[in-house]
Amino acid sequence: EKTIRSDLEIAQQTILRPISEIAEHIGLNDADYDTYGKYKAKLTDGLVKRLATKADGKLILVTAINPTAAGEGKSTVTVGLGQALHRLNHKTMICLREPSLGPTMGLKGGACGGGYSQVLPMEEINLHFTGDMHAITSAHNTISALLDNHLHQGNDLRIDPRRITWKRVLDLNDRALRQITIGLGGPAHGVPRQDGFDITVASEIMAVLCLADSITDLEKRISRIVVAYSYDQQPVTVKDIKASGAATLLLKEAFRPNLVQTVEGTPALIHGGPFANIAHGCNSLIATRTALKLSDYVVTEAGFGADLGAEKFFNIKSRIGHLHPDAVVVVATVRALKMHGGVAKDQLAEENLAALVEGLALLEKHVETMDLFGVPAVVALNRFATDTDTERETVLEWCRERNIRVAESEVFSQGGAGGEALAEQVFEALEEESQFTPLYPAELPLTQKIERIAKRVYGAADVHFEEKALRELERCTEQGLGHLPICMAKTPFSLTDDPSKYGRVEGFTITVREIKPSIGAGFIVALTGNVLTMPGLPKIPAANKMGISEDGTIYGLS
Ligand code: ADP
Repeated sequence: EKTIRSDLEIAQQTILRPISEIAEHIGLNDADYDTYGKYKAKLTDGLVKRLATKADGKLILVTAINPTAAGEGKSTVTVGLGQALHRLNHKTMICLREPSLGPTMGLKGGACGGGYSQVLPMEEINLHFTGDMHAITSAHNTISALLDNHLHQGNDLRIDPRRITWKRVLDLNDRALRQITIGLGGPAHGVPRQDGFDITVASEIMAVLCLADSITDLEKRISRIVVAYSYDQQPVTVKDIKASGAATLLLKEAFRPNLVQTVEGTPALIHGGPFANIAHGCNSLIATRTALKLSDYVVTEAGFGADLGAEKFFNIKSRIGHLHPDAVVVVATVRALKMHGGVAKDQLAEENLAALVEGLALLEKHVETMDLFGVPAVVALNRFATDTDTERETVLEWCRERNIRVAESEVFSQGGAGGEALAEQVFEALEEESQFTPLYPAELPLTQKIERIAKRVYGAADVHFEEKALRELERCTEQGLGHLPICMAKTPFSLTDDPSKYGRVEGFTITVREIKPSIGAGFIVALTGNVLTMPGLPKIPAANKMGISEDGTIYGLS
């Protein structure tokens, strides 16, 4: 009876507690937050300092196998596991990324979890929320405007208009804006040049906001972002065009973590949402740190599958933020396992044990990778109504035979109660004591860092660097950036750089085409395959069915 209601219906029928009650429950004073309406609040960014002497709670990361285009339920399991721990009377907080309007209006829909494991009010979180996306967009575009104005006003810095790397951003999927020409119309209207738009979540400002540990660190990181090169090929930074102060100022509210609650009243921080390809794909460091101070257990997620999301959570976010992940949950679904076992996308609902077992090799790979990082893992089988009993049993048995901790998650249909079996396995994992270490030391040369990720995490046999990429890596090393971690940009659908290659592929070569230093964020992006930083809409976008009725009821959001 419970499962037939849509995510939106469940969200609309839930009676929320005032956010001040949730804040009080986690030990906050009135001075620690400002309410944004009845059900949202922003914490002060100084809160983390006030709590500095408190011990950190346990950090549990939720990741997944390589997903299908629909997503495998990481957000849902993150919220559900948080609710389960909360139900079991543990001080628990959930940390998630803020949804972007790109996927919400596009193919995937919103990003608040699903069923009885959602963060609320989902209508607001999925749409404008507390305005952070708009602030990030404005901060980014202020830098663009100041840069073009500098060209127009005489170009003292001798910026080469053909070598401007700073595009404009918009929080929508709009492929028509990928490549544009600006400054047309004559001398009064700026300097003509080629430009383009990225989606806001791909902005380096977003990555920076998610890695800064204070507002002064935020400004420091913004000021060193490289926006262009001069005619003599010297980098031009945000500081050079005198834009860092204004950009930081525009982010003063966006830098504060947002507090909301789940369907079951579990406190959740939703803050920042960088792309998981050209950026690191997890919520802000300041939100995670604050949650660790305020609770005994923090459940958080990282975008895409474990080869991208978990790898970056460990090698980038945990390194920069000095975090110590205590356990990791690897979400798998019967349908994705069958897809990785060779089943066509339109036949995933049919039972196919041979393909399922074939696909389990990919799950095994990801569990092995979590072992490499020294973090105890638990597999969560996210149960769908279409899974047959034999399929479910096959996955559970297969894991048990290999001594892999496993539990079914029924948090989508049952809420926290459906996550208690998973919570029990997570407690076992926590008892094992994490030996977390990043996969490479900072001083390892950049090419070797990339090779290590490709070989150990993806299972590649080799890495091919295109000439241009090698040159750029050399330049980074010469500029003293060799100590930075690597941010791999790769398709999420495959371990390889080819999205059509499913399962545990072996013996393949990863091609690194291009290198982009994100100096503000503090990592070097290595691009493989074709990575779009401004996605397009599908033939039938989710936006087509959305709207609001006369009485104010929202429909069509998922
Ligand atoms: P991810 O975070 O991995 O991208 P989500 O948690 O956002 O995945 O889930 C993707 C979609 O699948 C959401 O619309 C969610 O409601 C739905 N979903 C997740 N788990 C289940 C389930 N067990 N049964 C049915 N739908 C589910």
